[in-house]
Amino acid sequence: MDKRPFLIRLKLALQGSWGELYNPDNPPPEIPLHEMFQKITELDDDFWGGVYAFSTDPMGRVISPEDKFILSRKAQDCGKAMAQKTAAEYETAKIRELVKRAGLTIEKTTGAEHGGTIHFAEFAEPDKIRIYESCLEKTPLGEEQLSRDAKDLLASTEEVLITHELFHYLEYQQRDTIFTRTYVHHLRPILFFHPTARLLCISEIAAMAFIKEYLKLPCSPYVFDLLLIYGFNKDKAYRLYNNIINLAGNVQAPVQKPIIDTISN
Ligand SMILES: [Zn+2]
Repeated sequence: MDKRPFLIRLKLALQGSWGELYNPDNPPPEIPLHEMFQKITELDDDFWGGVYAFSTDPMGRVISPEDKFILSRKAQDCGKAMAQKTAAEYETAKIRELVKRAGLTIEKTTGAEHGGTIHFAEFAEPDKIRIYESCLEKTPLGEEQLSRDAKDLLASTEEVLITHELFHYLEYQQRDTIFTRTYVHHLRPILFFHPTARLLCISEIAAMAFIKEYLKLPCSPYVFDLLLIYGFNKDKAYRLYNNIINLAGNVQAPVQKPIIDTISN
């Protein structure tokens, strides 16, 4: 079960598989936030799910690009369908109203930065959403040259965080049947050993698709990874941006093989 708070994966992204880019002796180039925002909002959901999200998953390196693509699409479908079902069930587009009706409580807390990791929000079983206040206070809304679109997006930060954790609540309610919790990936056999792995990132991909559908966002909510980290540490944001652009530059041609039926939950 993925209990990692929203964006804790940034620690993996910045200090793990991209460790060479975390070298303090090799500071990243400074790039204006509005330029970074413009670039990353051009990236599509298949990149964010099938490439970026898997790059932050400990198991991402052993999954083929084709399977990442397929699993990302399945997770996106799962999140989107959940958003549509939830909107119909609760008959409200207002996320706070929905959270209230679902019986969840929202708690504001401090201590977002802990052990090199920045926490933005988390779902605490069985019915609590925790929002770390400093991530709301540090959003770079005051940055000059930010477009109206970027500012509108930043203004919805709290809603985005709540909606993300609402997905994890709904996922928890359906933990015995939902794809993101029940899917087990079969790795390459080693002699008579048939290893399997849970993929934590599919839960995050679904949560992001849930947000995008429910709040009708014009771009992937994954852009908040960069926008919010920028408020805490600009160098980390520049490094993250470089990593995203490098990943986007290494994307292979779209998957053509119709192997979607080979993956099931
Ligand atoms: Zn999450």
